[in-house]
Amino acid sequence: MNCCVQVALRIRPLSDAEMEESATVVAHRVDQQMVVLMDPLEDPEDVLRANRSREKTYMFDVAFDFSNSQEEVYRATTKGLIEGLISGYNATVFAYGPTGCGKTYTMLGTDKEPGIYVRTLNDLFRAIEETSDDMLYSITMSYLEIYNEMIRDLLNPSSGFLDLREDSKGEIQVAGITEVSTINAQEIMELLVKGNRQRTQEPTAANQTSSRSHAVLQVSVRQQSRSRDVLQEVRYARLFMIDLAGSERAAQTQNRGQRLKEGAHINRSLLALGNCINALSDKTGPNMDSKLTRLLKDSLGGNSRTVMIAHISPASSAFEESRNTLAYAHRAKSIRTRVKKNLLNVTYHIAQYTSIISELRGEIQRL
Ligand code: ADP
Ligand code: MG
Repeated sequence: MNCCVQVALRIRPLSDAEMEESATVVAHRVDQQMVVLMDPLEDPEDVLRANRSREKTYMFDVAFDFSNSQEEVYRATTKGLIEGLISGYNATVFAYGPTGCGKTYTMLGTDKEPGIYVRTLNDLFRAIEETSDDMLYSITMSYLEIYNEMIRDLLNPSSGFLDLREDSKGEIQVAGITEVSTINAQEIMELLVKGNRQRTQEPTAANQTSSRSHAVLQVSVRQQSRSRDVLQEVRYARLFMIDLAGSERAAQTQNRGQRLKEGAHINRSLLALGNCINALSDKTGPNMDSKLTRLLKDSLGGNSRTVMIAHISPASSAFEESRNTLAYAHRAKSIRTRVKKNLLNVTYHIAQYTSIISELRGEIQRL
């Protein structure tokens, strides 16, 4: 099955700081799919001289602005992945964009206006309750950050840096990560808010609490029939929900020293992601040169449904960043991924049991 990366664009409301500096609104949602970005250069001559057009329109799968609720964003981007997840399809949701444009708001949200993380987990638990009693499900979640190419467990930061390992089925796992199974929405929100406070955040000129790390919420669904039929299928699927590090350029945040080094790592991850995305659209193998792309091997390698939610500010002062973000997100739209179901056929396990049994028989005979 072929499937495109679904790309959504969200324009957040003008912030108090932007209003104070009397920024004007230059990014508008025209309809459910179209966004227009107006050049803030007032003099048309200046626009011409800068070789820019006065306004540029961009089409996305879906576009949101200040008038859209968290629920609407969730429904149009992520809700549709749950059914697939239960049937064994992997999925990935990325929040992309410069610092301060609403990535964490979309993914984590607030107690009053929870974001995609909590809404997805709630609906996933509900969907599983409604499926037939013949199936046994286990759902676990883990929450980690990738910072300077190092992985930290946000639910247990004292465990130090963790490694990526490939398990016997070729799935990439984070060795030693805390896996939580909980079905209480309130508990999940508390865990995630607490975890989010552990994220590496450093002030930069662009934002007081810019996130220099990628935060990854990983939800795994394992499914097995209750029947004792040994030929049953075991399904395993993962949903990654990722709050990417700010995509702003180093120059804009006046980064120096350590900050610049982090910026380089973040950009390297984003570059790797970009390369992956490009490689996928070229139908060549994904590029594995960063922790993020390794972790997402299957998600980006074609075994997944992928949604990108790009974020911009509407303000004239953010014009350059908005233009970069719109161009990148627009390019991501042309990516196609191949989706395949994860089925661990039990005949594989039977083959293993058969060889164990014959070894045991041999031992008995030798006794
Ligand atoms: P990022 O994670 O991209 O750095 P945040 O999600 O922290 O940005 O958003 C920056 C600020 O803007 C926060 O105070 C957040 O609450 C607010 N904000 C972002 N998006 C929205 C939105 N759609 N509606 C209302 N407030 C928003
Ligand atoms: Mg953030």
